[in-house]
Amino acid sequence: MTIDLPGIENLDVQNKKVIIRVDFNVPVESQNGETKVADTSRMEKTLPTLEHLLRKGASLIIISHLGRPESPGEAEYSLKPVCAELAKMLPNAKVDFAPFETPQKTLNAWAEKAASLEKGGVLLLDNIRYFKDETSKEKKDRATLARRLADMGHIYVNDAFGASHRAHASVYDIAALLPSYSGLLLKKEISILSGVLSSPKRPFVAVVGGAKVSSKMAVLNNLIKKVDHILIGGAMAYTFLKAKGLKVGSSLVENDLLSQAFQINDKANYNECGFFLPDDHVIASEYSERAKTTNCGLEIPEGWMGMDIGPKTIKKYERIIKDAATVLWNGPMGVFEMEHFDKGTMSIAKSMSKNGGFTLVGGGDSMAALRKSGLEDKISHISTGGGATLEFLEGKKLPGVEALIPKD
Ligand code: AMP
Repeated sequence: MTIDLPGIENLDVQNKKVIIRVDFNVPVESQNGETKVADTSRMEKTLPTLEHLLRKGASLIIISHLGRPESPGEAEYSLKPVCAELAKMLPNAKVDFAPFETPQKTLNAWAEKAASLEKGGVLLLDNIRYFKDETSKEKKDRATLARRLADMGHIYVNDAFGASHRAHASVYDIAALLPSYSGLLLKKEISILSGVLSSPKRPFVAVVGGAKVSSKMAVLNNLIKKVDHILIGGAMAYTFLKAKGLKVGSSLVENDLLSQAFQINDKANYNECGFFLPDDHVIASEYSERAKTTNCGLEIPEGWMGMDIGPKTIKKYERIIKDAATVLWNGPMGVFEMEHFDKGTMSIAKSMSKNGGFTLVGGGDSMAALRKSGLEDKISHISTGGGATLEFLEGKKLPGVEALIPKD
């Protein structure tokens, strides 16, 4: 499965106004009354696309969302601090900010600013989710906003992989209104993820963890058909262990998924996929950093909860990862935010960093865990998408990507 997306590499953008949707949904923090971007990595990933378009003589109208504002104009969701960072990243461009006022006033003001944008100029529009039409379920609401945005430029580029699983006005509907292309980041993400799923070097190992089986069941069902081994960790392991009739104490369990969890083993067998669950655990008397902790074997005693995979499991998982040619990781092996329970997760990061094959990490919490390990630069590819990566791994089509594929 390769997805051939129209790209910007050889596109003539000289003197054109390019509307580009990016994912500048970065963490921001307030210090002494001043709001600043806490981590610019997402912005840096899209920089090659912005620089390429500017070098080729375009001007840029940049659209992004930030968080989920509940009402238009909520100050904590403004992209203004992002604009200050962007100006530093593009020192040779004139970077301007288009603030949000009321919905109607804003669109007119943005259109005026866009009209007077000069070649090489950059205009960052404020949070597009201040408009409720951006995320509306009604196509006609989204289409109205998309039309106003499209009218500001000549070409549309989507580089927001992290938002491409959403059929939103600035991600999906706008692509039908202008000649539309994929940015360099979006293309890279799609090419790597589809390459890994369609023709991986084997053995192909998936490490899947995190809190809930419910959010990962679809991914597991798809991966089982594609990978050689799946290594399970995190709280979701306890639902699988309970489904096998094992004691899991007071660990987090999704009881409504026990029968689906039970069936996964059969599916794995049928697809000749090794499905591994933890053999031992780090357990705690309560969900707390200060709780009493100890290790236990396969079953968890009453009154204790599983917080991390144990040393025997770590060794086993390390061995399997060592022999893999492709490793895909999504979701932590334990409550890695607490120091007592981060060993399993850190061991996965370490094993992946030493693996000489292709290593791929996707999903918000695995990225945070990887950052904690300090081993980010030892991983072949860290996907910028959370939900988008998961949906792609589930085998779903992403609306923002589909919208770029020429129809004839
Ligand atoms: P997810 O968003 O589904 O990938 O889940 C990530 C969260 O799962 C992290 O915040 C972890 O702290 C949490 N988690 C992992 N293992 C456990 C566990 N054994 N018990 C409770 N929470 C866990």
